[in-house]
Amino acid sequence: MLNLVLFGPPGAGKGTQSEKLIEKYGLVHLSTGDILRGEVSAQTELGKKAKALMDAGNLVPDEVVIGMINNKLESNPNAKGFIFDGFPRTSAQAEALDKLLAEKGTEINHMLALQVPDEELIKRLLLRGKDSGRADDANEEVIANRIKTYNEKTAPLITYYTNLGKYTAIEGVGTIDEIFDRLVAAIG
Ligand code: ADP
Repeated sequence: MLNLVLFGPPGAGKGTQSEKLIEKYGLVHLSTGDILRGEVSAQTELGKKAKALMDAGNLVPDEVVIGMINNKLESNPNAKGFIFDGFPRTSAQAEALDKLLAEKGTEINHMLALQVPDEELIKRLLLRGKDSGRADDANEEVIANRIKTYNEKTAPLITYYTNLGKYTAIEGVGTIDEIFDRLVAAIG
């Protein structure tokens, strides 16, 4: 199996590159942001609770997203591999993911971290907010909170994956194809 964590701050291009990676490697795409937005539009109980947190740029509780990922792993028993996009975002999530994969006799192969400067992230998110309909992209204060949350809670995972020998930094500025080529080279 090939299991990848595509890592990076909001607006780094994880969704765009995930689409290209799943096509090339035949992986199942697991985006916790997409799954949560699906719950919000279906107006489920979970979606109703998650919406306020997401709109403010705060994280949804670990148990909720870990449960969602567990369900998706269970419902794809024959997958060639998974690409985790927007997950894990906290140390508790990273530890839970390792445990879930170990139970299935597999593991994360690479954590690929897209590097993009803050000014560029803000520019990209505001641009996306113009037509994505995402409330969390439309407001500069919410964007700033998402970047702050990333720096406080998510960036520490770089150390976690470095210690496992799985971390690779990828320059996230350039054309979509240039960045994709860098990812493919890192996967090897
Ligand atoms: P971004 O563009 O900010 O990376 P995502 O689509 O990955 O956006 O996530 C949107 C929102 O969904 C986050 O700001 C957060 O509220 C929630 N979310 C997504 N993934 C997670 C996660 N792994 N843990 C907690 N909350 C999450």
